[in-house]
Amino acid sequence: MKILIAGAGIGGLTAALALLRRGFQVELLEQADALREIGAGVQISANGMRVLADLGVAEAVLALAARPSHREVRLWNSGQAWVSFDLGAASLERYGQPYVTLYRPDLIAVLEAAVRAADPDCIRLGRKAVGCTQDARGATLHLADGTRVTGDALIGADGIHSAIRATLHGPSTAEFTGCVAWRGVIPAEALPPHLAAPVAANWVGPGRHVVHYPLRGGALVNVVGVVEREDWLEEGWNTPGTHAAMRADFAGWHPDVHTLISAIPQPFLWALKLRQPLPRWTQGRITLLGDACHPTLPFMAQGAVMAIEDGIVLARALQDIADVPDALRAYEAARHERTSRVVQGSAANTRRYHNPILGDPARAAGHVESELAAAPAMERFDWLYRHDATTTPIPRDHP
Ligand SMILES: Cc1cc2nc3c(=O)[nH]c(=O)nc-3n(C[C@H](O)[C@H](O)[C@H](O)COP(=O)(O)OP(=O)(O)OC[C@H]3O[C@@H](n4cnc5c(N)ncnc54)[C@H](O)[C@@H]3O)c2cc1C
Repeated sequence: MKILIAGAGIGGLTAALALLRRGFQVELLEQADALREIGAGVQISANGMRVLADLGVAEAVLALAARPSHREVRLWNSGQAWVSFDLGAASLERYGQPYVTLYRPDLIAVLEAAVRAADPDCIRLGRKAVGCTQDARGATLHLADGTRVTGDALIGADGIHSAIRATLHGPSTAEFTGCVAWRGVIPAEALPPHLAAPVAANWVGPGRHVVHYPLRGGALVNVVGVVEREDWLEEGWNTPGTHAAMRADFAGWHPDVHTLISAIPQPFLWALKLRQPLPRWTQGRITLLGDACHPTLPFMAQGAVMAIEDGIVLARALQDIADVPDALRAYEAARHERTSRVVQGSAANTRRYHNPILGDPARAAGHVESELAAAPAMERFDWLYRHDATTTPIPRDHP
């Protein structure tokens, strides 16, 4: 059986690898001329590492990753810190897998190498999808250069602007979430040791928050600062901003935050946008995966991990269920509720992280303790990290 995948991001590459490991023929068509990722970080929790281990790439990932010992919440002005989640030995003990933080280009490089090792011809670069059609025998991907490629199934893993999604479900507009994100990656030697420590820190304050964590065994530190703003910015990831503007967005915040901002070689910013969730992803022999069908705010650090889980569940469904449309519907049924929970939970975290109460010295610590410290955090993340997408049942009885 030949499976077409449009888009070689984290989700498309994982799906390709999971399918190749099960003996499918796969053609992975990517619009870019080379697989590049933006120079930013990504956190991969135990549920994502479980899939990467099953696909045989965990060792390569661990060799390039950092492993924070815990997640910490810090208060925007005083810097007071709380441990919200043990991640190091505790992740291994509780979930059997580590919690890692990675430079995104490193993760893409590991997945690309594994896909090419399994099938050197699988990845086709410079192939931009513009639409798709299907009939009872197969699905056809239409490319911008006018050529068409046919397979037994087509997976749209082409990200938040998905052309496959638009063809199946019509155009949709991205809605500005009211949040703008700053980002930067800092060489660890440019920071005092406590800011380059193996900790995933989450600073919370009224209307904004800052996350930082180590990458590449601690050689780099990833910083993301999210600010509620009225203005509408370009959706790209690569709009350069100035240190002065970033500092102004975090005026009054703790000196540690300003040390981080000053050390960023070049701050970038982008507007966080979302599309309305889709009630259905699949039509016949064509379905969607990752940000193409369930884009989420990054406030649970689960978008890439959900795309990774999608990839393996999709491959398992196609392996277990002979009829392609049935298999794709079963994949969707296995994934829809879980990914919707992540989308909703991530949106709900905006209120937790940015609550105006955090501006009130008398109530701020109480808010952190009741909403963000260890017990409530465990409740919000445990169901996610425990999940095993390599064995979760794939419902055959679905609507
Ligand atoms: C600030 C921020 C921080 C984040 N942090 C985390 C985190 O810590 N942990 C986590 O799990 N997630 C995180 N995420 C979310 C994560 O980055 C995304 O959910 C993830 O990248 C989605 O993967 P994907 O493969 O579905 O899409 P993408 O990564 O967008 O990949 C899509 C691919 O398709 C290609 N493509 C697009 N259009 C076409 C076309 N027409 N034809 C052919 N190819 C096409 C693109 O070039 C790209 O290669 C974060 C997101 C943001 C914004």
